[in-house]
Amino acid sequence: MNTSYLHFNERDLARAGELIRSGKLVAFPTETVYGLGANALDSDAVKSIYAAKGRPADNPLIVHVFDKAQIFDIAAELGDYAKRVIDCVMPAPITIVLPKNSLISDVVTAGLPSVAVRMPLSQQARSFLRAAAVPVAAPSANLSGRPSPTCWQRVREDMDGRISAVLCGEACTVGIESTVLDLTQPVPLVLRPGAVSAEYLSELLGVNVEVLSDPTSKVNSPGVRYKHYAPKVPMVLDLDDDVDKLCAFYDAKLAEGFRPVLWVHQPHRFGNRRAVEMGADDLQAAANLFETMRLLEQDYDFIIASFCRRKGGAYDGPAGRGVLDRLMRACGHNVI
Ligand code: AMP
Ligand code: MG
Repeated sequence: MNTSYLHFNERDLARAGELIRSGKLVAFPTETVYGLGANALDSDAVKSIYAAKGRPADNPLIVHVFDKAQIFDIAAELGDYAKRVIDCVMPAPITIVLPKNSLISDVVTAGLPSVAVRMPLSQQARSFLRAAAVPVAAPSANLSGRPSPTCWQRVREDMDGRISAVLCGEACTVGIESTVLDLTQPVPLVLRPGAVSAEYLSELLGVNVEVLSDPTSKVNSPGVRYKHYAPKVPMVLDLDDDVDKLCAFYDAKLAEGFRPVLWVHQPHRFGNRRAVEMGADDLQAAANLFETMRLLEQDYDFIIASFCRRKGGAYDGPAGRGVLDRLMRACGHNVI
């Protein structure tokens, strides 16, 4: 298949919209990561997303809309919490899980009775969704298991020849996937942490919004079970920002013949060892997370990451939990 590289002008947007409506796959930018979109109302088109990504069929997709009114076509019912999130938070890097109506097929939701809905904040995402004029089902535009793409060049790396088009837009500013908030139960639950924090949602909804923390538990967010975001080279994670421990680990890997790299806060603390900045704060760490992962795996063969969410520390902000979640998955829970 020949993949077209389209741009944000009227003609190319119209083309992207036509492609979606004719059942083809188009990758597009959002504020979180690039998405791989298909017409959510066309089961065959949605099936081809799973094929293009090599994605397990029991990992559901998020339905993207540009207008809040579209949510009423997709969800069977909206409770008070959903109404408040839709009114006060959306558009934002948040996805809400709601009871689905019959318009949405089982292919989109992987057989679940619920549907995940998101209205992106990114103007480019919304102009693409408007051009599509149908709800767009989309996961991240990477091959299954790889770090999510945060610029179109990374989409090309994974998807060239596998999809009809890539809309080449801006680099993603948030950098990690949306917060997934389950609103199908009496108490709202964060299934996947993102830039919209549980603390913020608790305050907004006037209820203690819990975060799903046990990745092995049987919940209705199947995607969180899979190994995700993995770089091609081994990776370990330190949670203490312990400079001596990190240096000793680095030196041992070097002695074993590896070409290791430290991925840390304030790399100057590690002397002449190879060290790369994780980000001055949690938001910067999120914005650069997946791109840095893809850069490091090219230049090194062992990644030693460090991310410490000490109270009042650099990574104690709203996106800290989301970054930690991605790092834990990337290293396969291999904490040193
Ligand atoms: P991705 O687009 O690759 O980030 O994957 C979308 C993720 O959204 C899935 O892996 C799930 O974690 C979540 N999700 C989508 N639909 C549902 C649903 N109906 N119920 C619970 N979680 C969902
Ligand atoms: Mg993904």
